[in-house]
Amino acid sequence: MFARRIAFILLALVAAAPAAAQDKLRTIASFSILGDLVKKVGGARVEVATLIGPNGNAHVYEPSPADSRRVADAKVVFVNGLGFEGWLGRLVKASGTRAAIVVASTGIGPRSSASETRLGDDKTDPHAWQSVANAKRYVANIRDALIKADPAGEGVYKANAAAYQAKLDALDREVREVVAGIAPDRRRVITSHNAFGYFQDDYGIEFTAPQGVSTEAEASAKDVAAIIRQIRTQKIAAVFLENVTDPRLVQQIANETGAKVGGVLYSDALTDATGDAPTYIDLIRHNFKQLAGALLS
Ligand SMILES: [Zn+2]
Repeated sequence: MFARRIAFILLALVAAAPAAAQDKLRTIASFSILGDLVKKVGGARVEVATLIGPNGNAHVYEPSPADSRRVADAKVVFVNGLGFEGWLGRLVKASGTRAAIVVASTGIGPRSSASETRLGDDKTDPHAWQSVANAKRYVANIRDALIKADPAGEGVYKANAAAYQAKLDALDREVREVVAGIAPDRRRVITSHNAFGYFQDDYGIEFTAPQGVSTEAEASAKDVAAIIRQIRTQKIAAVFLENVTDPRLVQQIANETGAKVGGVLYSDALTDATGDAPTYIDLIRHNFKQLAGALLS
């Protein structure tokens, strides 16, 4: 009798202990910035694994067999869409996953680099998260997908999303105030790839890049020469490096023109926890402070 009772208690403990972890909704985010947004909305109910981690470049990513297994185990897979994850279809197929595939940028009007008198290719620009208003849309889409996958968490997801969107509103106001202090004729910079078009549209700082909206193709000598001419004629104040691209080309442009290197901007990935941009809000704040630091001085 006593032994049976002990066995019963042990069984109950075994059942209770891992339940907390198992009960969490297993999700995947394709890249680190999106992973942070999913964590903010999901909170303690959701486990988030990220395929492309800190400082990783999604444009040239190749999924591993381990990624395929993680995707197979997930209930929801969050992706950016807008052509950012060209490798996704193959990965989903190879994994045989039955997860819901959620495109976080759904509802955002895509911009195309072809509509601009700027350098780059004429592809859809996938970097929609560089607009804080767009990030609010991502958050709403993430919230709705989590509610669908885990209806019992509806109240939590709604509260988390609303609280985080209020922070994004405050961040958006912060960027606008800082940019308003920069003289309009100073609001022009160079970066290595064309990742800041949505930031440009929202906040009025003009970005030009020798590489297009993807980093797959190398910059052409003609594009680089055009940028060097542009820096000289438009008196562009600063060039910026990025955390996901090779710094040598931008460095070379700076050397040749005497333009100041304004620092590193975070385009397509967060940093790790010890860096300047471990979260999305840190990333945007770091970027506009770097821009202001170079353009105000
Ligand atoms: Zn990019």
